[in-house]
Amino acid sequence: MLTAVLEKKDTLELREAPEPEVGNEEALLKVMSTAICGSDVRILHHGNPRVEYPAVMGHEGAGIIVKAGRGVTRVKEGDRVALGADVPCGGCRWCRNGLGNNCAVNYAIGYQIPGTFTQYMRLPRMVLEEGPVTPIPASMGFDEAALAEPLACGVNGFELAGVSLGKTVAILGMGPIGCMGIDLARAMGAAKVIAVQRSPLRMEIARSYGADHYLFTGQSDIVAEIRNLTEGEGPDVVITSNGSVETHEQAIDMVAHRGVVNLFGGLAKDTRPLSVPSNTIHYKECFVTGSHGSTPRHHELAVGLIARGQVRVKPLITHVFPLAKIHEAFAAMESRQGMKIVVRPHE
Ligand SMILES: [Zn+2]
Ligand SMILES: [Zn+2]
Repeated sequence: MLTAVLEKKDTLELREAPEPEVGNEEALLKVMSTAICGSDVRILHHGNPRVEYPAVMGHEGAGIIVKAGRGVTRVKEGDRVALGADVPCGGCRWCRNGLGNNCAVNYAIGYQIPGTFTQYMRLPRMVLEEGPVTPIPASMGFDEAALAEPLACGVNGFELAGVSLGKTVAILGMGPIGCMGIDLARAMGAAKVIAVQRSPLRMEIARSYGADHYLFTGQSDIVAEIRNLTEGEGPDVVITSNGSVETHEQAIDMVAHRGVVNLFGGLAKDTRPLSVPSNTIHYKECFVTGSHGSTPRHHELAVGLIARGQVRVKPLITHVFPLAKIHEAFAAMESRQGMKIVVRPHE
């Protein structure tokens, strides 16, 4: 089979390798579709403490179970499934309490567990017992199913931010999470969604999602503009789906009294610290939350949202490549000329 091996920093090599053997408590997944995540690009160029070389990256995937060991009960041969990233260890305090994305060990597919940039992938026992392995309906394509992983992270963030009936939600950054977030906010009951974006290219895709207002950052005072759109009060919820510390500060500045800010997007390590007057938070009685990854429960919710058409993911797929062209796929991702780049290992 063909597999993409990360040999060391900046060196991703295509190799022929034997199909993985699977034991009694393991299964073999034929990877039909896998999307590149921003974190894959960071791992490629900067490494990650949880990734040891050689490694197989990729955690946004979907495929068909082609082999299941005798001891496996969760899946059977022929099942179509979507995979998430974070795999709860099952034993720590967080995992035992259903908060596996906060796991002390923090296992993830495409990190410690060989991932989806390959034709066939072994699902070890831990993944089958504790991990995000969600069956998908016959009507759902594999490309869509692969995108349940990033959506699951969005569901986690939006839940933590308390998006609910009647709320006004501002989403800062129209990358994949921001766009899906427009649909997600509606599905969770939001009355008004305000979408904010810097680059025109992504804004074009974001417009197909039908937010109530679209604003470009950069040209104007975004905080004042958003206050104007919310009777001077600010949004009930602000989600920062971008990598800029300035927008994190603006989010806290613009949120309504008793509102919630979710600092969704991670920032580069060398970013300066967040600088906000604590009185802003003090007088507004607002809440500032973060979110990281997702649990298998979020992944199941995400698959359901896509299956019912409540969150659309197809408009996000701007590029599709076979696995043999994974270098072009990464180049497309890094050019920032696309949105979601999908790799289909069997084309
Ligand atoms: Zn991802
Ligand atoms: Zn754990």
